[in-house]
Amino acid sequence: MLDLKIINGNVFIPGSGFFNLEVGIKDGKVAVLGDSKDMPEASETVDAGGNIVMPGVIDPHIHLGIFGEFAMECEHETRAALAGGVTSAGVFMGGGESYLPQLGSLIETVEQKASADLFFHLSIFTDEQMDEMDECYKQFGVTSFKFYMAGVKGVFPGVTDGFIYEGFKKVASMGDRAIACTHCEDQSVIDIAFDKVAKEKPNGTLADWSETGPNMAEEEAIMRACYLAEQAGNRLYIVHISTKDGADRFALLRKNENCRVYGETTSAYLSVNKHDPFGLLGKMLPPLRDQADTDGLWENVRQDNIDTFGTDNVSMTKAVKQAEAGMLGAMPGYPILQTHLPAILTEGYHKRNVPIETILTKATMNPAKIYGLFPQKGTIAVGSDADIVILDLNKERVVRADELFSYGDFSLYEGKTLTGWPSVVVKSGKVAYKDDKIIVEPGTGSYLRRTL
Ligand SMILES: [Zn+2]
Repeated sequence: MLDLKIINGNVFIPGSGFFNLEVGIKDGKVAVLGDSKDMPEASETVDAGGNIVMPGVIDPHIHLGIFGEFAMECEHETRAALAGGVTSAGVFMGGGESYLPQLGSLIETVEQKASADLFFHLSIFTDEQMDEMDECYKQFGVTSFKFYMAGVKGVFPGVTDGFIYEGFKKVASMGDRAIACTHCEDQSVIDIAFDKVAKEKPNGTLADWSETGPNMAEEEAIMRACYLAEQAGNRLYIVHISTKDGADRFALLRKNENCRVYGETTSAYLSVNKHDPFGLLGKMLPPLRDQADTDGLWENVRQDNIDTFGTDNVSMTKAVKQAEAGMLGAMPGYPILQTHLPAILTEGYHKRNVPIETILTKATMNPAKIYGLFPQKGTIAVGSDADIVILDLNKERVVRADELFSYGDFSLYEGKTLTGWPSVVVKSGKVAYKDDKIIVEPGTGSYLRRTL
């Protein structure tokens, strides 16, 4: 007897295609894939109504606990994630302290509060943190480490190429399932650009803010990061590529087979730009760009030069965002998890005819493979976790922030129609989201320990 079966679905298996199969689930795992005649009885049946049945989306890039308490954000933002079809997410952790004394209780919080599964990437700023990378793996199953080529002005500094090279060698020594991530912007270029904009246009617009991070600063840093990874011999993942120039350059660099690099862009860079009406609510690092950048990023998605889609979600309320404090005073970041998949489908599939297989593979299997979660995650196969989305590809919905699950009270898509929304989300074998309601309790999500 199965716990759950999903019938009448067009099942998407990344790398293989679409199949008319039923999915049988038991004990949180996919137990059977087959025709209705092969399918045992189940205590619960969900009729997909001919819609796509796909693996849960993996958002490899979110932040929790920056502007709100970690536990609170863990609870609320993973519910927003689930409602958007995101069943697993990678959380970038930061700060200058040793991670070893912190990780145990953070993982406990995830197990108690999260509704989606979470894994951690550790940002490495100090020698102490670098020395403890092996131990963070042994005790807590962390296999990904981030290096900021540029910091956030007034918050934390970036690290030098020498430090990054040492860190990359350390990642290389951990083996081929370990990976380094880099935020690619050249510190000196953006410092000069920032000072100029801050002086000349202190009350600037979002378009002026964009000038604080020139495109070439990203492109140049991507070149350096790829070079350092080639020298150190580690796998490298470039987070949030935001410019056409950066993506085009990355496409050339990855042709070098001595360089094992993966690239991410975000749903925001793929769907909104610096001229959009939300103004300074869109302040971000790296900044939102031009329409030409969005177009260039999509072209690179289509050509398979970009591997994954993240959100870089940083939730906060409008009161904390302080858009009214002006270009310099407003905080960077926005809540965007629940609209991640719909925004990508609207811009990529509906507006640009990017093949649905391309989009869904980059949203599911690719991040699972890159971060050592495959085939537990990122596919629908016997034995894989039953994290499954029934996707209504043509469902239109006007975005209203007050109807979304984030505790953040604004959306970059406010009043816009996005097309392509999850109708049902199954998490760990249970129907978790249906009819715009979350029907599981906090703690349904787990911490994902990874192995080398
Ligand atoms: Zn980030």
